[in-house]
Amino acid sequence: MTANLTKQTQFDAIIIGGGACGLMCAVQAGFLGKRTLVLEKNDKVGAKILISGGGRCNYTNLYATHKQFISQNEHFSRSSLAQWTVDDTVTFFETYGIEGKEKTLGQLFPVSDKAKDVVNVFTLLCDDLAQEIWCDAEVTAVEQTADGFTVSLERHGKQQTLSTPKVVIASGGLPIPKMGATDFGMRTARKFGMLVTETTPALVPLTITGKDQPWYEKLSGNSVFCRVWNDRVSFEENILFTHWGLSGPAILQISSYWKPGESIYIDLLPGKDIVEMILAEREQNGKKMLLAYLSGLFTRKFADALSDYVPAEKNLASLTKTELEDISILIHEFKVKPAGTKGYDKAEVMTGGVDTNELSSKTLESKKIPGLFFGGECVDVTGWLGGYNFQWAWASGFVIAQNL
Ligand SMILES: Cc1cc2nc3c(=O)[nH]c(=O)nc-3n(C[C@H](O)[C@H](O)[C@H](O)COP(=O)(O)OP(=O)(O)OC[C@H]3O[C@@H](n4cnc5c(N)ncnc54)[C@H](O)[C@@H]3O)c2cc1C
Repeated sequence: MTANLTKQTQFDAIIIGGGACGLMCAVQAGFLGKRTLVLEKNDKVGAKILISGGGRCNYTNLYATHKQFISQNEHFSRSSLAQWTVDDTVTFFETYGIEGKEKTLGQLFPVSDKAKDVVNVFTLLCDDLAQEIWCDAEVTAVEQTADGFTVSLERHGKQQTLSTPKVVIASGGLPIPKMGATDFGMRTARKFGMLVTETTPALVPLTITGKDQPWYEKLSGNSVFCRVWNDRVSFEENILFTHWGLSGPAILQISSYWKPGESIYIDLLPGKDIVEMILAEREQNGKKMLLAYLSGLFTRKFADALSDYVPAEKNLASLTKTELEDISILIHEFKVKPAGTKGYDKAEVMTGGVDTNELSSKTLESKKIPGLFFGGECVDVTGWLGGYNFQWAWASGFVIAQNL
């Protein structure tokens, strides 16, 4: 058996994680003439970039500000997002051949619709800038030494330990464990005595169980444009009914703000008033059945399902005041009490992570452990759906690179 000796490296920093944050950090460090080594446990870099946005990669959002990020310190991301702006992201990708197109709500995708193009930008640049990438290299521990750190890893079944003056932890969050997600960032922070806030799956479908579940199941596949809200936030986008509950962009958005046991509310006709609409319609056509009227507003299947809660067989003229009030509550304040979420297997991101109080917002360096940096999803900064999470990953990677 060979001894695992610590190997002195010539790198200015070791970056743990070859995802969005780690790759941007390596490239930006390269632009500044610094040499980094990226250690990635998967057999290729950028696995989550490749599957993002349905394989098309929604790589930023034109309207991103710190307000679309959830964190115990809602101002923490401000500095990074100001140091690396959305314009910087757009220009960076344009410079390396990726034109963006806005799909909806500021969401920018490559014109090619290929997430692979985004990853290629980084691998080619890392090559040009002599930034080294080792894949199949899982980091098992980081230790502090008198003049920096040692990083222990397993590569192709062999253990080795490298020394380095600085370490960047860009190892991502907990979602999609089968794609290599680990708790390494949070575990390492704790090991160094840093606080970590509670993590939960976010941008994740919500499940419905019990007596209500069959109602959702029969609507499976129906998508409705809605406003979904709770007492803290509201989103207007589509919701999708599934056989186990609710998904779709508006549900993913609210899931990041949902806590077990809470209800969420759905306005099925945002910006409209169903009672006023019915009253206007019955002036013209009082004999119309409520079911027929609802079928004109939604799909027939959806109207049929709503009939479980309203007197659908009555004509509009005969609806009483109380019935109209009930219809209004059903349409504008549809209450849903989710049983839970689909968990980390189906979440796009997580809330929580390395406590922002532990990091300098200007450099993302640990306040307790100089030379140790945290960026990307492992930090307690979680973006909305729509390209915000990549904007944070690029921005935090850039900021760290400036301070290596
Ligand atoms: C299905 C899906 C779709 C998404 N779509 C979008 C989208 O369109 N737009 C958007 O903005 N966001 C999207 N996201 C979120 C986005 O992918 C993440 O926010 C982003 O990838 C986080 O970047 P990161 O660099 O922090 O982490 P990651 O990109 O997850 O990279 C971390 C890397 O570290 C590696 N790693 C972990 N532990 C170790 C270890 N011990 N040693 C070595 N390597 C390690 C992992 O294998 C991984 O490659 C999506 C997420 C998912 C799951």
